[in-house]
Amino acid sequence: MQPGDITLRDVYRARRTIAPYVRRTPLARSASLSEKTGAEVCLKLECLQDTGAFKLRGATNRLMNLSEAERARGVIAVSTGNHGRGVSAAACRLGIRAVICMSDLVPDNKVQAIRDLGADVRIVGRSQDDAEVEARRLVDEEGLVWVSPFDDPFVIAGQGTIGLELLEDMPDIDTAIVPLSGGGLIGGIALALKSATRDIRVIGVTMENGAAMYESQRAGKPVPVDEEPSLADCLTGSLGLENHYTFDLVRDHVDDMLLVSEEQIADAVRHAYRQERLIVEGGASVGIAALLNGLAGDIGAKVAVVISGGNIDMDKFDKIVGA
Ligand SMILES: *Cc1c(COP(=O)(O)O)cnc(C)c1O
Repeated sequence: MQPGDITLRDVYRARRTIAPYVRRTPLARSASLSEKTGAEVCLKLECLQDTGAFKLRGATNRLMNLSEAERARGVIAVSTGNHGRGVSAAACRLGIRAVICMSDLVPDNKVQAIRDLGADVRIVGRSQDDAEVEARRLVDEEGLVWVSPFDDPFVIAGQGTIGLELLEDMPDIDTAIVPLSGGGLIGGIALALKSATRDIRVIGVTMENGAAMYESQRAGKPVPVDEEPSLADCLTGSLGLENHYTFDLVRDHVDDMLLVSEEQIADAVRHAYRQERLIVEGGASVGIAALLNGLAGDIGAKVAVVISGGNIDMDKFDKIVGA
């Protein structure tokens, strides 16, 4: 399958497939951001999705499209965060075994959160790379099916269902602003929005430290980046040098990529809490950060900002908002 082979049809198919299992999230008008920008700005609240992030959409679509034999063997993922939660929750719901690999550096509360969703957690090695080596071994030895967090046509189509909901709830949308890491989220959304009859601008936003897709697009091919700690922890990590789908999707369908600083991310988390009464994780607040700092250029009259998740560590959150 080539990147161009993922089509709008796949996104519609995904929507039918996942509808019973995921929430159709609200698109809520932001009075403060509308006033600030002079545009009508609405927030797509995936922080209210089951499991607290959109990744449940792609994971559910992937798991619903397993063959009978694959279903019987189960799935495996490497993730300490929202992807692990999404895969665990989808697997539990569908009665499929899920193994989630993580390193022993992962804090207990994150391990427990994924265990509580019903997954079999394997703690291996001292780094995410060690965990990935173990996961690949289990794929080979036990026939578990690898679930990518972003570079998979079913995952991309699942995330793209957000784009269909945006078109329905804001038919005259001019600009969508979307958090960007591996590019499954923005790739799927862009696929849906770029099929509309009007031009809709799609903007990706990511943190300036270790921006894998941004650096890779500049280099014209996937390149490794140094991973640095960030308030946007859900956006860190590399594309994988063997990227098959999202690099091309982002190159072909995303109009702009913007970078925001750690300070701008913290401000955006505070803004979401104080002005919108929302608890938003750092990586999910980057679209707000772009608007607050006037980085997005000409956004037109109708703007949707994807708020991709709300799973922030509450001690970290208290520090940021000064509660
Ligand atoms: C995974 C994730 C993203 C980035 O999604 P990609 O498909 O990797 O670009 C953004 N926000 C949250 C909350 C996430 O969990």
